[in-house]
Amino acid sequence: MAEEAIEAVAQVMRYPVTLEYTLNDAARGHRDRILADLLYELTGAEDACIVNNNAAAVLLMLATIAAGRQVIVSRGELVEIGGAFRLPEVMKQAACQLVEVGTTNRTYLQDYQRAINEETGLLMKVHNSNYSILGFTAEVEGHQFAQLGAKYNIATAIDLGSGALIDMSQYGLPAEPMPQQYLAQGIDLVSISGDKLLGGPQAGIILGKIG
Ligand SMILES: *Cc1c(COP(=O)(O)O)cnc(C)c1O
Repeated sequence: MAEEAIEAVAQVMRYPVTLEYTLNDAARGHRDRILADLLYELTGAEDACIVNNNAAAVLLMLATIAAGRQVIVSRGELVEIGGAFRLPEVMKQAACQLVEVGTTNRTYLQDYQRAINEETGLLMKVHNSNYSILGFTAEVEGHQFAQLGAKYNIATAIDLGSGALIDMSQYGLPAEPMPQQYLAQGIDLVSISGDKLLGGPQAGIILGKIG
């Protein structure tokens, strides 16, 4: 990690910290606010929530927005990540009903649209972090997805997994989707890991809006 980050950690370990105070008004503050302001600078997200890991971030997003309701996901995006993260099982734990749409290789906007009903709680996309679907493929762009959610007044979420904050292609590496792009396109919630490409300590970061 960056020397500055290591020094900052040593500093907060040495003395009491003002994690939950706003010193200017001598009042109680909110621990997420400090990081949310930094994440706003990096991603444009109005608000943020930091938790143990991205698996927890996804579980919390689902349980908060769509418990007891339906969540629409493409059949090509029902991922398993090393360890124990399997999207259909996380859905169950969050008490959400998974509604699969499209096919393994091609999912269109109409597939999501046709599945929407009064039980729908969330439209969700999941980044295929550790596999690729090649050949005759189709998936919905972020801005189309956001527009569909806005049209039906249903929240949209993307689990990005790694979530690079910088364009990896400038280093000759494969481009990795960036949370700030999806937020700018109008996606309501984006979740990323703190310890994949970000290279930080283990964490899950939910980026979203105030409201
Ligand atoms: C890595 C990953 C997760 C799990 O993240 P952890 O921080 O390891 O808990 C969830 N979803 C996707 C798409 C991932 O790539």
